[in-house]
Amino acid sequence: MSPEPTLRLRIDTQALANNWRELDRMSGVASAGAAVKADCYGLGVDQCVPTLRDAGARCFFVAHWSEVAALRAYVDGAQIAVLHGPIRDSDVAYALETGAVPVINSLDQARRWTEGTYGTNAKCHLMIDTGINRLGVAPEELSDPAIAALNIDIVMSHLASADEDSAMNTRQSAAFRDCLARVSHNRASLANSAGIGLGTDYAFDLTRPGLSLYGGVPRTELSEVIKQVAHVQAAIIQTRVLKAGDAVGYNGEFTAKRPMRVGTVSLGYADGFLRVRGPGTSLMADDRALPLLGKVSMDMVVVDLTGADDLGEGDWLELPFHLPDAAQQSTVSQYELLTTLGQRFAR
Ligand SMILES: *Cc1c(COP(=O)(O)O)cnc(C)c1O
Repeated sequence: MSPEPTLRLRIDTQALANNWRELDRMSGVASAGAAVKADCYGLGVDQCVPTLRDAGARCFFVAHWSEVAALRAYVDGAQIAVLHGPIRDSDVAYALETGAVPVINSLDQARRWTEGTYGTNAKCHLMIDTGINRLGVAPEELSDPAIAALNIDIVMSHLASADEDSAMNTRQSAAFRDCLARVSHNRASLANSAGIGLGTDYAFDLTRPGLSLYGGVPRTELSEVIKQVAHVQAAIIQTRVLKAGDAVGYNGEFTAKRPMRVGTVSLGYADGFLRVRGPGTSLMADDRALPLLGKVSMDMVVVDLTGADDLGEGDWLELPFHLPDAAQQSTVSQYELLTTLGQRFAR
């Protein structure tokens, strides 16, 4: 039996299902898939993938081959796509063994898939680079025989600036449309979460939301429909009374001006609560805000319990984790707020 946790991450699975359904609805005639890479952006494959599957997601995206195994038990016949593609011949063998589908990102990867040691004509996806310059074949490369040899399910590209009203969005979508006529495929896919906010012109056949499934709001078009999914809660593990002049935490950045009661809480930067988020943050006891005192430590923070005499050891506090607000308050991106959550949470 595990000991009682002092740190927990509550995943609101109804909000998660709501978010997928809303993103699917906003995708118009296209269906929404689900980006579940990086352990569902830190929230946990075990907690999130069954909910996304039951909501209706049929295409799951991960980045690494090493992420496939954790998904297989849950996806129930739905497709797993691997964004980094076959980096090595052994990835081709692994794809054939597991049924995971590679995203081909270069002519080299195309040849590895069809002509390498484990060469196959099994279906694959194709990433075209329309300007983000990370992974993907160039539009000029589409006429290469290595591309003609592929059995392509989804042709995709990725938007660089969908969270902004940038001319780059229309440029990329026009470039993508041009490419579609030049490569045989079943389905086309361009939009991530922010791209869904740009409207159904960007949706094609399949959208690939990640961030907004988990409560992120990269564009205001999404702010009404996307609900908070992750709730970070930590217990008070000790209370103490400071005298005037007592300092709190590393480097004594907070000094008490008067006697005051404070609580030490089991949450620190090892749990993703980075030091830059400390200043100006309060932990919440229902509607009461308890300001942080001093620096965030690896495993602890200290909060002011003035006026909260009823709170003591074992009581749970919540870290405000409404992503757009938390990102604005801290300058940490919504993506990083999620993906830096640590491993110590009870989920
Ligand atoms: C991560 C990723 C997504 C999801 O993007 P969000 O901005 O989190 O919605 C979609 N497509 C590709 C290729 C990705 O790498």
